Amino acid sequence: MSGKGFETVIHGGTVVTASEVFRADIGIADGRIAAVAETIAGGETRIDASGKLVMPGGIEAHCHIAQESSSKIMTADDYRSGSISAAFGGHSCFVPFAAQHRGQSIDDVIATYDSRAEGNAVIDYSYHLIISDPSPEVLEVGLPRAFARGITSFKVFMTYDLMNIGDGGMLDIMTVAKQNGAITMVHAENNDMVKWMNRRLAAAGLTQPRYHAISRPALAEEEAIGRAVALAKLVDAPLFVVHCSTAEGATLIQRERLRGVKLFSETCPQYLALTREALDRPGMEGAKFMCSPPVRDSATQEALWRHVASGTFASVSSDHAPYRFDATGKFANGTEAPYPKIANGMPGIGMRLPWLFSEGVSKGRITLPQFVQLSSSNAARIFGLDRKGAIAPGFDADIAIWNPRETRKATLADQHDNMDYTPFEGMEITGWPETVLSRGAVVVHQGALRAEPGRGRFVARRRVDLTGMPGYRAPELDPARNFGAEIAP
Ligand SMILES: [Zn+2]
Repeated sequence: MSGKGFETVIHGGTVVTASEVFRADIGIADGRIAAVAETIAGGETRIDASGKLVMPGGIEAHCHIAQESSSKIMTADDYRSGSISAAFGGHSCFVPFAAQHRGQSIDDVIATYDSRAEGNAVIDYSYHLIISDPSPEVLEVGLPRAFARGITSFKVFMTYDLMNIGDGGMLDIMTVAKQNGAITMVHAENNDMVKWMNRRLAAAGLTQPRYHAISRPALAEEEAIGRAVALAKLVDAPLFVVHCSTAEGATLIQRERLRGVKLFSETCPQYLALTREALDRPGMEGAKFMCSPPVRDSATQEALWRHVASGTFASVSSDHAPYRFDATGKFANGTEAPYPKIANGMPGIGMRLPWLFSEGVSKGRITLPQFVQLSSSNAARIFGLDRKGAIAPGFDADIAIWNPRETRKATLADQHDNMDYTPFEGMEITGWPETVLSRGAVVVHQGALRAEPGRGRFVARRRVDLTGMPGYRAPELDPARNFGAEIAP
């Protein structure tokens, strides 16, 4: 094929898509993939990918960037550092959260995050809205306006007193989401179980970081996932269970997916890589490994890997929640704070994909196409990024070129974020992204940033694709029956 008119040609590489692995060149014009062929000559710029894997750029659909926690602690990463870290880790798009504080209008939330993102991101972005206050104004005016702008997903919490909106609030949100073609994401942990555990532990004087993992039992997640799924079934609305950390939770999701429920889920590298022993490190070191839900045990890791390999999870996401190991982050309430007053979360946007490639592909747990599904293409489809997540003509030239043989020891310096630690420090990694393109422009190449902050654009998203998911009809709300149909969403 002639290279006339291509800005860039990536040649000699092995292309990996969500279904195939094949030798091909890629021609890029106007920031889009214009041709995929056995050989493509020409191109103003030619990138040699011999011996490399050419894959869709990663899409990180669970990360906290320039976001205040409900207790007003700001993440260490903003849209500049967060997107740079994401790009060095093989991503060409990310979807952080835009979080509503109680009483805040949705317009105000979106304007706030627009001002944080614009001029800063090096890769494309969108937002999931976090709804903590589903007032009539939010449900009737704010959310429909957000959908019209292409924000087609949002998240609710079943835990944390300042975030938890209750079962009724979830039903209201899921109903509005369904009517607008959006998907609801849920952080599922039983709030009262956690608070009861906290009171018992505090009364016994057990407040070191290690007790964080004890305070949030696996049962609290299992119960809440079951309840969230039941709520979603009542209104037959799509649901995405974020950061599943338990074997029972994953099994429940698998079973309900087999029944046709419009249900998706993810797990995260930390639940596959770490156990609660990490929180036993001396002094306050364990605080580095505090996240919610907490990391569990090696039996859980094995079970979660089987769910990754067998398709229960749509993605393996970082849940990047960067709070530094200092007074700006973990220790905002003092260096001896009891665990409920230590900021929750760990960083990982830069290690998400190298870790998943190394432990997943290099160790033979998942195939290369599965890696593409879990890192990019499933997130594109579920969250409506209809020009991303694939290597095919017409799609954005969002591409990551990986060296599958490069070995590294994970270090903080390789993260390129604003953090002062990485929970993956010292882990042996095989496979690394060398070059990342976003809409045809090289963002990262061989360890150097090549793009200016601000080149990343907001991406309006489509409605969730529920093809093949028949859903569930509660008989009491089934229009095909003669009762309750009047109020069916
Ligand atoms: Zn999160």
